[in-house]
Amino acid sequence: MSDIIWPDYYSRFQCIAGRCRHTCCLGWEIDIDKRSLARFMSDNGVMSNISNGHFILKKDGRCPYLNSSGLCNMIISKGEDYLCDICRLHPRFFIYRDGRTYGGIGLACEEAARVILDSDTVFSFIGDFTVPGYILGYERNGHDVPARVFGLWDKALRLEMRVAIFEGMESLYNSWREVISDISGAGPTEETEKEVILANSRAFDNLVVYLLYRHEGNQRLAMECAIFVADMVAVGIEVHEAARMFSEEVEYSDSNMEMLEDLFGKCGEGYDVEFGR
Ligand code: SF4
Repeated sequence: MSDIIWPDYYSRFQCIAGRCRHTCCLGWEIDIDKRSLARFMSDNGVMSNISNGHFILKKDGRCPYLNSSGLCNMIISKGEDYLCDICRLHPRFFIYRDGRTYGGIGLACEEAARVILDSDTVFSFIGDFTVPGYILGYERNGHDVPARVFGLWDKALRLEMRVAIFEGMESLYNSWREVISDISGAGPTEETEKEVILANSRAFDNLVVYLLYRHEGNQRLAMECAIFVADMVAVGIEVHEAARMFSEEVEYSDSNMEMLEDLFGKCGEGYDVEFGR
Protein backbone atom coordinates (compact mmCIF):
# COMPACT_ATOMS: atom_id res chain seq x y z
CA MET A 1 0.00 0.00 0.00
CA SER A 2 3.05 2.22 -0.24
CA ASP A 3 1.90 4.00 -3.41
CA ILE A 4 -1.45 5.03 -1.88
CA ILE A 5 -2.03 8.67 -0.93
CA TRP A 6 -3.49 8.88 2.59
CA PRO A 7 -4.97 11.71 4.66
CA ASP A 8 -2.61 12.73 7.46
CA TYR A 9 -4.94 11.31 10.13
CA TYR A 10 -4.51 7.81 8.69
CA SER A 11 -1.31 7.46 10.67
CA ARG A 12 -3.37 7.85 13.88
CA PHE A 13 -5.76 5.01 13.03
CA GLN A 14 -5.49 1.52 14.44
CA CYS A 15 -8.28 -1.05 14.85
CA ILE A 16 -9.21 -1.31 18.54
CA ALA A 17 -10.37 -4.93 18.07
CA GLY A 18 -11.59 -6.32 21.41
CA ARG A 19 -12.47 -2.83 22.72
CA CYS A 20 -14.73 -2.07 19.74
CA ARG A 21 -18.43 -1.73 20.67
CA HIS A 22 -19.65 -1.96 17.07
CA THR A 23 -17.41 -4.56 15.54
CA CYS A 24 -17.45 -4.80 11.77
CA CYS A 25 -17.49 -8.61 12.20
CA LEU A 26 -21.19 -8.56 13.09
CA GLY A 27 -24.23 -7.97 10.92
CA TRP A 28 -22.54 -7.49 7.54
CA GLU A 29 -22.32 -10.07 4.78
CA ILE A 30 -18.60 -10.67 4.19
CA ASP A 31 -17.82 -11.03 0.46
CA ILE A 32 -14.69 -13.12 -0.03
CA ASP A 33 -12.56 -12.00 -2.99
CA LYS A 34 -11.72 -14.58 -5.67
CA ARG A 35 -8.01 -14.76 -4.87
CA SER A 36 -8.63 -15.47 -1.18
CA LEU A 37 -11.40 -17.94 -2.00
CA ALA A 38 -8.99 -19.88 -4.23
CA ARG A 39 -6.52 -19.94 -1.31
CA PHE A 40 -9.20 -21.09 1.16
CA MET A 41 -10.19 -23.98 -1.19
CA SER A 42 -7.36 -26.11 0.16
CA ASP A 43 -8.42 -25.47 3.77
CA ASN A 44 -11.38 -27.70 4.68
CA GLY A 45 -11.80 -26.04 8.07
CA VAL A 46 -12.24 -22.59 6.53
CA MET A 47 -14.37 -23.90 3.65
CA SER A 48 -16.83 -25.39 6.15
CA ASN A 49 -17.60 -21.79 7.20
CA ILE A 50 -18.18 -20.52 3.65
CA SER A 51 -21.22 -20.64 1.41
CA ASN A 52 -21.72 -18.86 -1.91
CA GLY A 53 -18.55 -16.83 -1.48
CA HIS A 54 -19.50 -15.53 2.00
CA PHE A 55 -18.67 -16.54 5.53
CA ILE A 56 -21.73 -18.20 7.07
CA LEU A 57 -22.75 -15.84 9.85
CA LYS A 58 -24.02 -17.27 13.13
CA LYS A 59 -27.68 -16.84 14.11
CA ASP A 60 -26.82 -13.64 15.99
CA GLY A 61 -25.09 -12.24 12.90
CA ARG A 62 -21.51 -12.74 14.16
CA CYS A 63 -18.71 -13.86 11.86
CA PRO A 64 -17.80 -17.48 12.74
CA TYR A 65 -14.23 -16.33 13.47
CA LEU A 66 -15.19 -13.56 15.91
CA ASN A 67 -14.46 -14.87 19.42
CA SER A 68 -16.05 -13.85 22.71
CA SER A 69 -13.20 -11.39 23.40
CA GLY A 70 -13.99 -9.52 20.19
CA LEU A 71 -10.87 -10.86 18.46
CA CYS A 72 -10.55 -12.71 15.16
CA ASN A 73 -9.69 -16.42 15.55
CA MET A 74 -8.40 -16.52 11.97
CA ILE A 75 -5.80 -13.84 12.73
CA ILE A 76 -4.91 -15.59 15.98
CA SER A 77 -4.39 -18.98 14.36
CA LYS A 78 -3.10 -18.06 10.88
CA GLY A 79 -1.96 -14.44 10.96
CA GLU A 80 -3.37 -11.27 9.41
CA ASP A 81 -2.02 -12.03 5.92
CA TYR A 82 -4.32 -15.06 5.74
CA LEU A 83 -7.46 -12.86 5.81
CA CYS A 84 -9.51 -12.16 2.71
CA ASP A 85 -9.20 -8.63 1.28
CA ILE A 86 -12.30 -7.12 2.86
CA CYS A 87 -11.29 -8.25 6.38
CA ARG A 88 -7.69 -7.14 5.89
CA LEU A 89 -8.58 -3.74 4.47
CA HIS A 90 -11.74 -2.63 6.30
CA PRO A 91 -12.43 0.22 7.11
CA ARG A 92 -10.11 1.53 4.40
CA PHE A 93 -11.60 2.73 1.12
CA PHE A 94 -9.90 3.70 -2.12
CA ILE A 95 -10.61 6.32 -4.76
CA TYR A 96 -8.96 5.96 -8.17
CA ARG A 97 -8.40 9.28 -9.95
CA ASP A 98 -6.01 10.48 -12.62
CA GLY A 99 -3.86 7.37 -12.37
CA ARG A 100 -3.47 7.72 -8.61
CA THR A 101 -4.97 5.84 -5.67
CA TYR A 102 -6.29 7.89 -2.77
CA GLY A 103 -7.03 6.02 0.45
CA GLY A 104 -9.24 6.80 3.39
CA ILE A 105 -10.86 5.27 6.44
CA GLY A 106 -14.64 4.94 6.59
CA LEU A 107 -16.77 6.48 9.31
CA ALA A 108 -18.71 3.23 9.82
CA CYS A 109 -15.80 2.14 12.02
CA GLU A 110 -16.09 3.72 15.45
CA GLU A 111 -12.34 4.23 15.84
CA ALA A 112 -12.11 5.81 12.37
CA ALA A 113 -15.02 8.09 13.34
CA ARG A 114 -13.13 9.16 16.47
CA VAL A 115 -9.89 9.80 14.56
CA ILE A 116 -11.60 11.73 11.73
CA LEU A 117 -14.09 13.83 13.70
CA ASP A 118 -11.59 14.75 16.45
CA SER A 119 -8.81 15.70 14.04
CA ASP A 120 -7.44 19.16 14.88
CA THR A 121 -5.37 19.56 11.73
CA VAL A 122 -6.45 21.00 8.38
CA PHE A 123 -7.01 18.21 5.85
CA SER A 124 -3.72 17.28 4.20
CA PHE A 125 -2.04 14.19 2.82
CA ILE A 126 0.92 12.25 4.13
CA GLY A 127 3.66 13.33 1.71
CA ASP A 128 3.80 16.19 -0.73
CA PHE A 129 0.46 15.77 -2.53
CA THR A 130 -2.03 18.48 -3.47
CA VAL A 131 -5.38 18.48 -1.66
CA PRO A 132 -8.34 18.37 -4.12
CA GLY A 133 -9.77 21.75 -5.14
CA TYR A 134 -13.21 20.94 -3.74
CA ILE A 135 -11.74 20.61 -0.25
CA LEU A 136 -9.54 23.71 -0.55
CA GLY A 137 -12.60 25.57 -1.87
CA TYR A 138 -14.69 24.50 1.12
CA GLU A 139 -11.97 25.62 3.49
CA ARG A 140 -11.78 29.01 1.75
CA ASN A 141 -15.53 29.39 2.22
CA GLY A 142 -15.23 31.37 5.46
CA HIS A 143 -12.66 31.94 8.17
CA ASP A 144 -14.37 29.94 10.88
CA VAL A 145 -16.05 26.59 11.07
CA PRO A 146 -19.70 27.72 11.24
CA ALA A 147 -19.25 30.06 8.27
CA ARG A 148 -17.85 27.19 6.23
CA VAL A 149 -20.54 24.69 7.15
CA PHE A 150 -23.39 27.17 6.94
CA GLY A 151 -22.05 28.37 3.58
CA LEU A 152 -23.34 25.08 2.19
CA TRP A 153 -26.86 25.61 3.46
CA ASP A 154 -28.48 27.60 0.64
CA LYS A 155 -29.71 24.65 -1.40
CA ALA A 156 -30.62 22.38 1.52
CA LEU A 157 -33.84 20.40 1.32
CA ARG A 158 -36.68 20.89 3.78
CA LEU A 159 -36.57 18.45 6.71
CA GLU A 160 -39.60 16.44 5.51
CA MET A 161 -37.97 15.83 2.14
CA ARG A 162 -34.65 14.88 3.72
CA VAL A 163 -36.40 12.47 6.12
CA ALA A 164 -38.37 10.95 3.20
CA ILE A 165 -35.12 10.23 1.35
CA PHE A 166 -33.55 8.38 4.29
CA GLU A 167 -36.85 6.64 5.06
CA GLY A 168 -36.93 5.27 1.51
CA MET A 169 -33.54 3.58 1.83
CA GLU A 170 -32.75 -0.02 2.68
CA SER A 171 -31.60 -0.44 6.28
CA LEU A 172 -29.50 -2.83 8.34
CA TYR A 173 -30.85 -2.32 11.83
CA ASN A 174 -34.19 -1.37 13.43
CA SER A 175 -32.37 1.23 15.49
CA TRP A 176 -31.78 3.22 12.29
CA ARG A 177 -35.50 3.14 11.48
CA GLU A 178 -36.24 4.31 15.05
CA VAL A 179 -33.83 7.23 14.68
CA ILE A 180 -35.50 8.35 11.45
CA SER A 181 -38.89 8.07 13.12
CA ASP A 182 -37.62 10.14 16.10
CA ILE A 183 -36.36 12.85 13.75
CA SER A 184 -39.66 12.87 11.90
CA GLY A 185 -41.55 13.18 15.21
CA ALA A 186 -39.30 15.84 16.77
CA GLY A 187 -39.00 17.87 13.57
CA PRO A 188 -35.79 19.78 14.40
CA THR A 189 -35.80 23.26 12.88
CA GLU A 190 -32.98 24.80 10.88
CA GLU A 191 -32.14 26.84 13.97
CA THR A 192 -31.80 23.66 16.04
CA GLU A 193 -29.65 22.02 13.36
CA LYS A 194 -27.35 25.04 13.33
CA GLU A 195 -27.15 25.05 17.14
CA VAL A 196 -26.11 21.39 17.04
CA ILE A 197 -23.41 22.16 14.48
CA LEU A 198 -22.14 25.14 16.47
CA ALA A 199 -21.95 23.02 19.61
CA ASN A 200 -19.95 20.34 17.73
CA SER A 201 -18.22 22.57 15.22
CA ARG A 202 -14.95 20.69 14.88
CA ALA A 203 -16.71 17.35 14.37
CA PHE A 204 -19.06 18.79 11.72
CA ASP A 205 -16.27 20.60 9.90
CA ASN A 206 -14.32 17.34 9.74
CA LEU A 207 -17.48 15.46 8.74
CA VAL A 208 -18.10 17.75 5.77
CA VAL A 209 -14.46 17.47 4.64
CA TYR A 210 -14.62 13.67 5.00
CA LEU A 211 -17.84 13.55 2.91
CA LEU A 212 -16.35 15.82 0.23
CA TYR A 213 -13.22 13.68 0.12
CA ARG A 214 -14.95 10.31 0.09
CA HIS A 215 -17.63 11.39 -2.39
CA GLU A 216 -15.25 13.37 -4.56
CA GLY A 217 -16.59 16.87 -4.19
CA ASN A 218 -20.32 16.08 -4.30
CA GLN A 219 -21.27 19.03 -2.10
CA ARG A 220 -25.05 18.56 -2.23
CA LEU A 221 -24.64 15.00 -1.01
CA ALA A 222 -22.15 16.14 1.65
CA MET A 223 -24.45 18.92 2.83
CA GLU A 224 -27.64 16.81 3.06
CA CYS A 225 -25.81 13.99 4.84
CA ALA A 226 -24.13 16.39 7.30
CA ILE A 227 -27.47 18.05 8.09
CA PHE A 228 -29.06 14.65 8.59
CA VAL A 229 -26.31 13.77 11.08
CA ALA A 230 -27.14 17.08 12.82
CA ASP A 231 -30.79 15.96 12.94
CA MET A 232 -29.65 12.71 14.58
CA VAL A 233 -27.69 14.63 17.20
CA ALA A 234 -30.73 16.88 17.75
CA VAL A 235 -32.75 13.82 18.82
CA GLY A 236 -30.12 12.78 21.37
CA ILE A 237 -27.49 10.69 19.58
CA GLU A 238 -23.88 11.49 20.41
CA VAL A 239 -22.14 13.04 17.38
CA HIS A 240 -19.50 10.31 16.75
CA GLU A 241 -22.16 7.61 17.06
CA ALA A 242 -24.52 9.54 14.77
CA ALA A 243 -21.82 9.78 12.09
CA ARG A 244 -20.93 6.09 12.52
CA MET A 245 -24.56 4.98 12.21
CA PHE A 246 -25.12 7.20 9.19
CA SER A 247 -22.05 5.75 7.47
CA GLU A 248 -22.90 2.14 8.31
CA GLU A 249 -26.44 2.46 7.02
CA VAL A 250 -25.97 4.79 4.07
CA GLU A 251 -22.38 4.90 2.81
CA TYR A 252 -21.87 1.15 3.02
CA SER A 253 -24.97 0.31 1.00
CA ASP A 254 -24.52 0.40 -2.78
CA SER A 255 -28.25 0.89 -3.37
CA ASN A 256 -28.48 3.75 -0.85
CA MET A 257 -25.51 5.49 -2.42
CA GLU A 258 -27.02 5.02 -5.88
CA MET A 259 -30.18 6.70 -4.59
CA LEU A 260 -28.17 9.67 -3.29
CA GLU A 261 -26.26 9.96 -6.55
CA ASP A 262 -29.52 9.89 -8.52
CA LEU A 263 -30.76 12.78 -6.39
CA PHE A 264 -27.62 14.85 -5.95
CA GLY A 265 -25.43 13.95 -8.92
CA LYS A 266 -22.68 11.45 -9.52
CA CYS A 267 -19.70 11.65 -7.23
CA GLY A 268 -16.47 12.67 -8.94
CA GLU A 269 -18.02 14.23 -12.04
CA GLY A 270 -17.37 17.88 -12.66
CA TYR A 271 -16.33 18.86 -9.16
CA ASP A 272 -12.58 18.90 -9.63
CA VAL A 273 -11.75 22.48 -10.40
CA GLU A 274 -13.68 24.75 -8.11
CA PHE A 275 -15.94 24.28 -5.17
CA GLY A 276 -19.47 25.49 -5.87
CA ARG A 277 -19.97 24.13 -9.39
S1 SF4 B 1 -15.21 -1.42 13.40
FE1 SF4 B 1 -13.10 -0.56 13.28
S2 SF4 B 1 -12.25 -0.65 15.35
FE2 SF4 B 1 -14.09 -1.98 15.29
S3 SF4 B 1 -13.29 -4.07 14.83
FE3 SF4 B 1 -13.85 -3.12 12.85
S4 SF4 B 1 -11.95 -2.09 12.10
FE4 SF4 B 1 -11.66 -2.55 14.30
